[in-house]
Amino acid sequence: MQKHARAIVVGGGCVGAGILYGLAKRGWTDIALLERTQLTAGSTWHAAGLVPSYARNFNIARMIAKTIEIYEGLERETGQNVGWHKCGQLRIANTSDRFDEYKSYMSVAELQGMNARLLSPAEARALWPLLDNKQMLGALYHPDDGHIAPADVTHAMAKGARDLGAKIYLNTEVKGFTRTPGGEWQVHTAQGDIVCEHLICATGNYARQTGAMLGLEIPAIPILHQYWITEAVPEIVERKRQGLPEMPILRDEWFEGYLREEGDGLMFGPYERTENLKLFAEDGVPEWFGADLVEEDFDAVSRNWEQGVELVPALGRAGIKANVRGPFQMTADELPLMGPAWGLPNVWLAEGVPGGILWGGTIGYYLSERIVEGGNSIDTTDLDPRRFGAYANKAWTREKVREAWGTHAELHFPGQDMPAARPQKTAPSYDRLTQLGAVWGVLNGWEMPNWFAPEGVEAKDQYSWRWTEKGKYVAQEVHAVRNAVGLVEMTPMTKFEVSGPGARNWLDGILANRLPQPGRVVLAHHLTASGGVQAEYMVACLEDGAFYLISTPRAERWNFDDLSRLLPGDSSVALRNVTDDRGCFTVVGPKARDVLQPLTGIDLSNPGFPWFGVKAGTVGLASDVRMLRVNYEGELGWELYHPLAYQRRLLEQILEQGRPHGLRLVGLHALESLRLEKSYRAMYRDMNPELTAWESGLERFVRLDKNFIGRDALLKARERNDPRRSVTIAIDTDGASSLASEGVYHQGRLVGRITSGGYGYTLGHDIALALLPLELGVPGTPLEVPILGEMRNARVIEESPYDPKGERSRM
Ligand SMILES: Cc1cc2nc3c(=O)[nH]c(=O)nc-3n(C[C@H](O)[C@H](O)[C@H](O)COP(=O)(O)OP(=O)(O)OC[C@H]3O[C@@H](n4cnc5c(N)ncnc54)[C@H](O)[C@@H]3O)c2cc1C
Repeated sequence: MQKHARAIVVGGGCVGAGILYGLAKRGWTDIALLERTQLTAGSTWHAAGLVPSYARNFNIARMIAKTIEIYEGLERETGQNVGWHKCGQLRIANTSDRFDEYKSYMSVAELQGMNARLLSPAEARALWPLLDNKQMLGALYHPDDGHIAPADVTHAMAKGARDLGAKIYLNTEVKGFTRTPGGEWQVHTAQGDIVCEHLICATGNYARQTGAMLGLEIPAIPILHQYWITEAVPEIVERKRQGLPEMPILRDEWFEGYLREEGDGLMFGPYERTENLKLFAEDGVPEWFGADLVEEDFDAVSRNWEQGVELVPALGRAGIKANVRGPFQMTADELPLMGPAWGLPNVWLAEGVPGGILWGGTIGYYLSERIVEGGNSIDTTDLDPRRFGAYANKAWTREKVREAWGTHAELHFPGQDMPAARPQKTAPSYDRLTQLGAVWGVLNGWEMPNWFAPEGVEAKDQYSWRWTEKGKYVAQEVHAVRNAVGLVEMTPMTKFEVSGPGARNWLDGILANRLPQPGRVVLAHHLTASGGVQAEYMVACLEDGAFYLISTPRAERWNFDDLSRLLPGDSSVALRNVTDDRGCFTVVGPKARDVLQPLTGIDLSNPGFPWFGVKAGTVGLASDVRMLRVNYEGELGWELYHPLAYQRRLLEQILEQGRPHGLRLVGLHALESLRLEKSYRAMYRDMNPELTAWESGLERFVRLDKNFIGRDALLKARERNDPRRSVTIAIDTDGASSLASEGVYHQGRLVGRITSGGYGYTLGHDIALALLPLELGVPGTPLEVPILGEMRNARVIEESPYDPKGERSRM
């Protein structure tokens, strides 16, 4: 075996082969793949080969489309048959909620470039004459979906890579890794060592073991899944005789599984529900397990079989030829972990891939792009492994993967917070807020109130594709913030401290805004080298050389890792994650000063404590409270970052002071409405690494007269005049709101997309942030937006439609 390679891929499944191919196609040929036994010997060889393109998320859909594009080109390029059957996919809706899901999907399908149609029951039956479902309301049809031969496509990608010069070493198990003094990775294998610049792990069911060798806890655990293949089905034989096309892959809400033609018979893959789902090798894949299957478990899915046989009688009549049951990796959100390994330079993860056949081509393409080009051309943050934090330990992951796969076929509503492994992280306010009606959601492991149920209303969340009763209570919370005062429990926010003699210079070289002087706060962005937004921080300067940084909860591990990588080699800058040490309450609304002033000796008057100021002191009985006069709601208000030990009493004191002023507890849903009315951008939605700071409308936070990461790219983008821009639009909605990712139309033509949206309870209509071509981003431009399949009138409006001059925050 060679002694050195530029990049090593560990694992020869569909994902590892995809990465090797992706790297080779980008011109990196000094690369090698190490596989402990044979290519495809992990989960790949026994996969059902389905490549479904259904995703409501714009970025996920674009990524999946890439897989299909790559697989379709492989045969031509390598001469290898990959068994691609473009038979289409048909999803049957039997309930109005499921049909709403499909209608909502149609608002995003054209934007995603998906060939998708809603079908009537008669049209669906014409495509699947063996289906005897009299209850169906309709169906969603993707004619361009299909299935592929997993082993063949893996071998084709491996051949494609080899043809370009990549090496593959079989029977070469990786036993460990060592960082060399020169910063490379020494990979120890059963066949000797090999040193590489970039290490990429794609080890399927072995992910936790591989992670352990690197000191990482990978948030994935394999589950067991199975499908059956039947003997010949006379109806299918007859269809073939008549030269009829293969029927689409069928998914019916009732039988919760997939059904497709396989040879002259059928393949039926029912989804195991949580209570019947078995995990595999939680403590590591045993030595004896190779390219093996595990024993059939009919009982786990007997209910699906009953339904399946009732809906497709031909399935019941056919004899069973084979059962295929095996493990594959699962994550809490059923998405792969693709991207940098936190804390380890030049180590890349392509682990925890549920649906490695579906994702193999995509991961190969985008991970190699990230490694070779230093960034991605589209927003891949949904897959970044750092989206999970330290809370994603094994116990948590175990419960969450059981829930994820065990509810795979169930209805999932927008914004639905799933219950498993909760509560996990709670602030001291938790029990008291529960008593006061909190309906809890979850952010980065933390419980956070979504809204508060008034007395007499059940404190249980309501989910739908349409408006629900809870809107009434969210409206009351919004009105309280606009007219009196609200208290928002914001403890899950990510919080870092940056200090030391080099702190100011270091941060200044990273962030696009000018750093604040002591006592002041700024909003500042950490951009990518190409000018996209990697992170957004509220930066408070507590004193010379001491900064306090706040960012969105989900970014905790991510931002910490990105900043850590940039730390200077000396000890001039210290970076500390204090997220779990400090809580946060926002007290916001015209009466905020009246509530807080009696609790603190800090002068809260306008001259004493202006907008975007920061002071630390005692509030109530709590010492060391960092008060930032900033907020996401657009009213007079302060964010109070306090040591968590004081939180419980501080809460009580604020509630008590607030009572005469009509203080109301306010949750995340109201916050979302309030920030949309102010056109405040949200990270990972309206801002992301793909969109430049200009496109996201961040001009006022960028100082081109100083140096920062991404400045050159922004200057170039300015010359280029980016063709699109984030603008605020109003939508005339009724009964349902925009969610995000919907296409935006002008005179019947698709011109842009919504990055986030929802109802503006003060303004009385939907507000959304949308990416539009520059020439259309002018207030007054008439638009249309499809909501649940109906075109709604919309128009571009001025930024910050509520209080455009920002006078209320400066009151
Ligand atoms: C019944 C069933 C049906 C399925 N149907 C579908 C489907 O229709 N569509 C779909 O997309 N997915 C499907 N899947 C899931 C799919 O099989 C997996 O997601 C996919 O194979 C994962 O690919 P991978 O490359 O990540 O992992 P694997 O295929 O498991 O490859 C990992 C490789 O890494 C090697 N390895 C591990 N550790 C080391 C080490 N230390 N040194 C060297 N090599 C190592 C292993 O030997 C293995 O070959 C199905 C799974 C099952 C069980």
